[in-house]
Amino acid sequence: MNRARPSFPARLDLGPTGHPIGTARGASPAASRPDVQGGWQWPSGPPVRGLGLDSAAVRRQLVLNLERQGLSDPVVLAALGAVERHRFVDSALVNQAYEDTSLPIGLAQTISKPSVVGRMLALLRQGCDGRLGRVLEIGTGCGYQAAVLSHLATEVYSIERLRALHDRARQNLRHLKLGHVHLLFGDGRAGYARGAPYAGIIAAAGGEALPQAWLEQLDLGGRLVAPVQTGVGAATQALVVVERTRSGFQRSLFEAVHFVPLKSGTD
Ligand code: SAH
Repeated sequence: MNRARPSFPARLDLGPTGHPIGTARGASPAASRPDVQGGWQWPSGPPVRGLGLDSAAVRRQLVLNLERQGLSDPVVLAALGAVERHRFVDSALVNQAYEDTSLPIGLAQTISKPSVVGRMLALLRQGCDGRLGRVLEIGTGCGYQAAVLSHLATEVYSIERLRALHDRARQNLRHLKLGHVHLLFGDGRAGYARGAPYAGIIAAAGGEALPQAWLEQLDLGGRLVAPVQTGVGAATQALVVVERTRSGFQRSLFEAVHFVPLKSGTD
């Protein structure tokens, strides 16, 4: 599994502008997003040596592993390949950033496994053959999934209830200059009515039931992907997908997952 594990710290591949590939200064976010129509492709051009970490090769390996595990949505694969996950984790954990594992991000919260992020995003995109419209994320955490979502949606609204994590996500995302990603501080159980209706809603924390506000803020044809409790105890969580159709909400239950609890209020 970890055959291609890199030895960190290594170097960061910088594009011709001197900025990390895919994040060139002055480029609009759209310019660095993958082509949603085509398959995923790796940035070309000679790497320029510079600071920090070289993650292009390990990102490629991660994506190949996820593809081997059955993740087939090329747009999701491209987005996962474009985001430098090591920038979102604590410096002590960078050598694990491209393994398919969840990692602590402080305050008893975790960044999800890339395979789970990929699976949820593929479920969110199902039936969509282009870019999603407005997407709401509940549980910004360190901002990693919001960065991945920025490649898939025209607008991303992401809510976090822990001030310290909201601030950290803001810092983590700053270098990407993503004008279409809006980080919000608050209790995500109320959704975010000002951005509604949403083409997609994705939650990174699970509760006993889906908040009514999420369903109300889902657009017709929109899809919601979230972990929900399916029995007694937090250990019995599964992914649920709700699609809003003309005739109502269609709910499908998928595999078991283990997410942090959806909490109320802010801290
Ligand atoms: N998508 C994140 C994963 C974060 S873990 C990432 O890529 O890092 C889940 C997050 O949900 C935690 O940060 C937790 O604080 C947050 N959370 C839990 N309940 C919430 C709520 N009611 N509103 C907003 N965020 C919530």
